[in-house]
Amino acid sequence: MTPELLIAIIAGLFGLVLGSFLNVCIVRLPKNESVVSPRSKCPRCGKGIAWYDNIPVVSWILLRGKCRGCGLPISPLYPLVELATGAIWFLMAWHNGPTLEMVRGGFFFTILLGIAVTDAREYIIPDELSVGGLVLGLVIALVRGWAALKVALIGAAVGFFLLWGFAAAGTWLGKRMGMVGGEGQPEEAMGGGDIKMMAMIGAFLGWPGVLMTVFLGAAAGSVVYVPLNLMGNKKLVPFGVFLAMGAAITYLAGHVLVDFYLRFIGAA
Ligand SMILES: [Zn+2]
Repeated sequence: MTPELLIAIIAGLFGLVLGSFLNVCIVRLPKNESVVSPRSKCPRCGKGIAWYDNIPVVSWILLRGKCRGCGLPISPLYPLVELATGAIWFLMAWHNGPTLEMVRGGFFFTILLGIAVTDAREYIIPDELSVGGLVLGLVIALVRGWAALKVALIGAAVGFFLLWGFAAAGTWLGKRMGMVGGEGQPEEAMGGGDIKMMAMIGAFLGWPGVLMTVFLGAAAGSVVYVPLNLMGNKKLVPFGVFLAMGAAITYLAGHVLVDFYLRFIGAA
């Protein structure tokens, strides 16, 4: 085994354990419960989950996706989140080696995953993930130096105020179109969670990354939700899911897309 592969496997195992903790966050943070205690319980029968039934992915497979206490199914979302987080860390380590960029990319994608799942399930983006991620992004930038911290701070500010502007404009427009603020309708076009999330993304990607993320997120959200809306589906849009996808694509391929765009408009 090469040292590179060994490091990637260790990072992947760390990702599996982190993914297990991310599941706790996904379930408990929207309910404002502590993620530290008490121990995890089966939501159906209330039986405490022993450590040997709480091993990422492995336990779910050994239990065939059923609770040992009541035999009722355990959502496959749990092992999938664990697997995804493990894959994130394996690939970040494989691509970057044991560097600060591995840590930065690993946490960024883990936070985006957590936000996307909670927003899709509950229409909530917990502050612990958005504001916590913002602080983490700034601290990692500071480790890289003052120049990086400046980029991160400007990115965070642009992300915050851009989405704040969109939210205000969207609410104004939505009220006039009769889609916001009425009976059984959302109070605002976009929640504060999206605004704080975008500040976090700005801290990791800088202000050009913010613009790319919002563009990609709005495009993906429109492709999915405009047809649904025309078919009469008036469900809330979990915009955080699309912003998370946009941010992930921007991290991975942002420079390629910006180059393409500049060539397209003839600027390069
Ligand atoms: Zn049970």
